[in-house]
Amino acid sequence: MKAVVCEKPFELTVVDRPGPVRKDGEVMIRIRRVGLCGTDYHIFGGTQPFLSYPRVMGHELAGEVVDSDGGSSLQAGQLVTINPYLPCNRCIACRKGKPNCCVNVRVMGVHIDGGMTDFVCVPEAAVIPVPGLTPEEAAMVEFLSVGMHAVRRGAITETERVLVAGAGPIGVAVALLARLAGADVSLIDTSQTRLDYARTALGLPHTACVGPELDDWLRARTEGDYFDAVFDATGNAKAMEKGFGYVAHGGRYVLVSVVKDAITFADPEFHKREMQLIGSRNATHHDFRLVIDLIRAGELPTRALQTHAFALHDLPSVVPDLIDSRDGVLKAIASL
Ligand SMILES: [Zn+2]
Ligand SMILES: [Zn+2]
Repeated sequence: MKAVVCEKPFELTVVDRPGPVRKDGEVMIRIRRVGLCGTDYHIFGGTQPFLSYPRVMGHELAGEVVDSDGGSSLQAGQLVTINPYLPCNRCIACRKGKPNCCVNVRVMGVHIDGGMTDFVCVPEAAVIPVPGLTPEEAAMVEFLSVGMHAVRRGAITETERVLVAGAGPIGVAVALLARLAGADVSLIDTSQTRLDYARTALGLPHTACVGPELDDWLRARTEGDYFDAVFDATGNAKAMEKGFGYVAHGGRYVLVSVVKDAITFADPEFHKREMQLIGSRNATHHDFRLVIDLIRAGELPTRALQTHAFALHDLPSVVPDLIDSRDGVLKAIASL
């Protein structure tokens, strides 16, 4: 079978490899679509920590069941997505029902080989049917679920004023899902291109570009109160620090994106607000199921979320272009 291997930073090659052998408890899946995201661009660019090369990338996956154990409820040919966050099922987080932040989590396409290949074998518990979804939609469930997890962590309720910083795929997912939860959503970014797309194609009307007028705009949006909940999806330490100041007194700050730097904040600013600072990591099966239901109900603009399509074997030539034009790329999906 073919696999796209990131041999080392800036080097992607299409190789022939033997297919995987299915073990007991695993399901063999023929991969049909793979979404690309920031993690993949970081792996390609050599800026993803905790990663050894060579690596087969790909954690936003849609595929068809080929084979599973007798007694499995999965049918051959059935379209599924995969929860790529494989938990250990033993650690403190797993025991508390939080496998998304498992101490020993192995993420497909990061710590272990992912789905940019014809066939994978994964534990049956990681396989999630997607009745009524297209293959493209099935490949979008994962990144939308990361947004869903963040919105659930933020416990957004109706009529709350929510600020999302960062209009990349995760920020947009958070914004769309917070709005579905009934919130009044504002979206900010440093890229006017991204904000224009969110406004015109995704139906997120309240956007502002980071600049000298931003603070006036944020105050005007909230009658000077700032926001009940702020979500950071910027991947930028300075932006994360700035976000503390956008939280209303009594509000929550949810950090979705990850940076390797330390971030600092002034305790009086934090304390006087009685702010809740909340991390959000990965997603759970529950988030996947909620997203699948919303997509099936037509509540998410999946066609507009996908901005690019290409064949997986073209990936080595496509990835540098996608990175160069990143402000115009929301979700790129490879077919195979
Ligand atoms: Zn991703
Ligand atoms: Zn665990």
